[in-house]
Amino acid sequence: MWYSELVEAYEKIEATTKRLEMTDYLVELFKNTPSELLDKVVYLTQGRLYPEFVGIELGLAEKLALRAVANAAGVPVKNVESEAKRVGDVGLAAEDILKKKRQATLFSGRLDVETVYGTLDKIARTTGEGSVDAKIKLLSGLLADANPKEAKYLMRTVTGRLRLGVADMTILDALAVAFASKEQRELVERAYNITSDLGYVAKLLAEEGLEGLKRCKITVGRPIRMMLAQRLTSAEETLEKLGGRAACEFKYDGERIQLHKKSDEILLFSRRLENITAQYPDVVDAARRCILAEDAIVEGECVAVDPDTGDFLPFQELMHRRRKYGIERAVKEFPASFFLFDALYDGEDLTQMPYPERRRRLEAIVREGNNFRLSEMITSDDVNEIERFFELAIESGCEGLMLKSIAEDSVYQAGARGWLWIKLKRSYQSKMAEPIDVVVVGTFMGKGRRAGTYGALLVAVYDDDRDVFPTVCKLGSGFSDKDLENLPKILEPYKIGHKHPRVESSIEADIWFTPAVVLEIIGDELTLSPVHTCAFGQIREGAGIAVRFPRFTGRFREDKAPEDATTVKEIVEMYQAQLKKIE
Ligand code: ATP
Repeated sequence: MWYSELVEAYEKIEATTKRLEMTDYLVELFKNTPSELLDKVVYLTQGRLYPEFVGIELGLAEKLALRAVANAAGVPVKNVESEAKRVGDVGLAAEDILKKKRQATLFSGRLDVETVYGTLDKIARTTGEGSVDAKIKLLSGLLADANPKEAKYLMRTVTGRLRLGVADMTILDALAVAFASKEQRELVERAYNITSDLGYVAKLLAEEGLEGLKRCKITVGRPIRMMLAQRLTSAEETLEKLGGRAACEFKYDGERIQLHKKSDEILLFSRRLENITAQYPDVVDAARRCILAEDAIVEGECVAVDPDTGDFLPFQELMHRRRKYGIERAVKEFPASFFLFDALYDGEDLTQMPYPERRRRLEAIVREGNNFRLSEMITSDDVNEIERFFELAIESGCEGLMLKSIAEDSVYQAGARGWLWIKLKRSYQSKMAEPIDVVVVGTFMGKGRRAGTYGALLVAVYDDDRDVFPTVCKLGSGFSDKDLENLPKILEPYKIGHKHPRVESSIEADIWFTPAVVLEIIGDELTLSPVHTCAFGQIREGAGIAVRFPRFTGRFREDKAPEDATTVKEIVEMYQAQLKKIE
């Protein structure tokens, strides 16, 4: 398959803002792809080479990539650099330069997908001494055989900036249409939820059809997409929703981890399914000693603890573990405890069993240790008892409670945010009951003290029905001087020249961003707003919902993808809950 076929599809996808059209182009592309290449084409379309959990990432420094363009085109590096600066995109710069050059000379050679993938893979894997030159050489070779359009996408891909805006769910839609039918989408999604690997699912579906997907099983070492929780604000309502009796657990405020054990080998996956094993050698150690099953997949929350008092510390303290070197020291200085709350596999697939059975199986395979414990839990049908347990959780340094269904159908809903788990969090002093997570989609340049830097950010929530990001407020408060200094650096890679097609805004920002960076904010209350597009027209015609007096809480939610931000539905529920409180 020629790489130009891929590029043609990318051009069309980039030009549309409509999800349905995007899906059609993907269907066409997938159908035209030989099945043995389908996994690679899916990863490339996502701007990657492997699923996230494999941990091999593209992301060649722009400076190096530009040197490769200079080599391939035979022009001075500084010309390429100034062109890139002018157009603000390494892809466009490469395209322009090659266009000019290629008018003068003929070039031969056509790039096929396998060569492109293989070379990008080599670039991603080359490390150590001399790797910089080797990478540039590999990329120059590809660019020398590329036409200008291909060069544009090669450059964006190799620097980790492809961002066609194709969501995982859109790829699943397209796969279902291309190789099964819309009605079978659920099966396709289930396969994805238990393997977390779109390329693998695509290839399996194309080669073995639905029967192949049905045989798809959870595997130790391959993360399962995590089950998520809904939220409510009162214990009474929550209990009612769960059928009058529920498992109530402490809601620990740390990092969710899915732990895989295959004999002595332990792997840890984050909520975004990245392999974070290296960050928690203490959890790995404890798991080897405390999990009695030969093979297992369990989940829990890792919480930072004060080494002097044993008290829980805020979630941010775990950030000290996000480092490449000096982990041993960080483990000593910033110890953590792991609290287990679910078992997905113990030699047998447990995901389709009801929660009480999974918890029983979890208890059977865990021998508790100092920093490796089961979550605190009671089963109750009594609102008063639950409220007391909630207070106890808060007193112990937790965020509140997780209430979980114990009904016959309380399976582990991989990848879903259903009503089987409901979170109850502590109210804050302000009228807005709790903080929300928002995505940065734009910024306004600052004035006065903030001249020359960002004045306020334009932030959005996620509409999961329509796969778009409507705005919910401008955010200018709560930033420390250090935050203000860092923000432009953090957001720089996501700068784009126009509003992102998945962003809905009636305001013009000075700079637009691809939705990527998630922040936690708290506000005074939710109000109706003619300006912001969140839940537009849902409460009142011509108005959306906005956060009044929003402040950054100091938490960058690096563990969240933009699609994990607070949803429009949640905002509507919070708005309605707030009205009830005022009444
Ligand atoms: P979400 O994960 O729901 O998108 P979030 O990361 O902001 O949002 P919360 O909404 O506060 O987290 O609550 C859900 C998270 O609570 C889980 O993903 C998990 O990390 C954490 N958690 C803590 N204790 C428990 C528990 N006992 N059972 C399940 N989850 C728990």
